[in-house]
Amino acid sequence: MLNCARCSALVEGQAVQTPMGWMHPQCAGAPVGAVALPRVDDNLSEGWKIALYAAALIPWGSWFVVLGSSVLYYAWRKETPNKAAQINKHGWLAWLLGMAVWGAIWFLMKS
Ligand SMILES: [Zn+2]
Repeated sequence: MLNCARCSALVEGQAVQTPMGWMHPQCAGAPVGAVALPRVDDNLSEGWKIALYAAALIPWGSWFVVLGSSVLYYAWRKETPNKAAQINKHGWLAWLLGMAVWGAIWFLMKS
């Protein structure tokens, strides 16, 4: 059992010996004072998906869904490309759902 001298997390697998003590290879390579960043979660959470579909079901909501998901797509594209692609896809699917539901309601009210 070995704890990293920089991030103090348990070292599993490879360890590198440094003047400060044993470290993760990635910690040993990092500049002094740098803190290992947590891995960015590149997945769209269930909460976002529920919010997208729920928003599409309010009147005119699907237009806000498309607008909002497009803005977030461009904001997230660089850091989390997978998450960005997912919100883009679900944004359009939610828009389709909203169009279908409100189209049906409009059709029923007309006839
Ligand atoms: Zn470490």
